[in-house]
Amino acid sequence: MVTTAFCSDMPSHLVCASGAPRLEFPEVISLNVGGTYFTTRLSTLRRYEDTMLAAMFSGRHHIPRDAEGRFFIDRDGAYFRDILNFLREGELPQRDHVMAVHREALYYAIGPLLDSLEDTQPLTGEKVRQAFLDLLPYYKDNLERIVEIAKLRAMQRKARFAKLKICVYKEEMPITPYERPLFNSLRFERTASEAKLFEHHCEVDVSFGPWEAVADVYDLLHCIVSDLAERGITADQQCIGVCDKHLINHYYCKRPIYEFKITWW
Ligand SMILES: [Zn+2]
Repeated sequence: MVTTAFCSDMPSHLVCASGAPRLEFPEVISLNVGGTYFTTRLSTLRRYEDTMLAAMFSGRHHIPRDAEGRFFIDRDGAYFRDILNFLREGELPQRDHVMAVHREALYYAIGPLLDSLEDTQPLTGEKVRQAFLDLLPYYKDNLERIVEIAKLRAMQRKARFAKLKICVYKEEMPITPYERPLFNSLRFERTASEAKLFEHHCEVDVSFGPWEAVADVYDLLHCIVSDLAERGITADQQCIGVCDKHLINHYYCKRPIYEFKITWW
């Protein structure tokens, strides 16, 4: 049995269980996180089991040191202060750090911090929004297609912006000119075999829909525009009419079509 100075500090399942020699650490640790220096107690880094920091400083792993002997973590140190403050006394970051600290907490696998952050805005809102977007499994791919098409189109034309036609419809509701659509129903009632007669791809670049949720077309448009903005892409959209494709008998597609203008520079 190897006895080291930090055995009393370790989670019980790690306490020098095997005969393998473990690295010893001082009580106060100097860290170099991507070039930013921090000093903290060893017990702070080991606050929660199953985190990457607890594992790193468990004594089971080699940790590289910088020229001054500080333990080196190859990670941007910008939000490590927030990580340490949470480990020290459960302090949560200020709101404009929440998203970035969440990314760091994922990297360091700090479950209790992740749990706390997910109950904090804007992450809670993002969770609620994601519950809706999960109904549209193609959403992310479609977003990529919008960016890709807009890029190619602008480059080919040597233009500052590109325009795309995007169909966004919540429900399948083909109508005849004589028929009043059932605006309050979630789905246009038809048998499966009848529904086949109405299957159709609108002549647009990308298509979203249908979905069953309270969130409507404007909510999805908001998601698309704000997700593009998050990537630094400016997008304006306006409805330019409906798809006039004739489907069968007197029925027409009538899905709303939006023109997106993506401005690149
Ligand atoms: Zn159509």
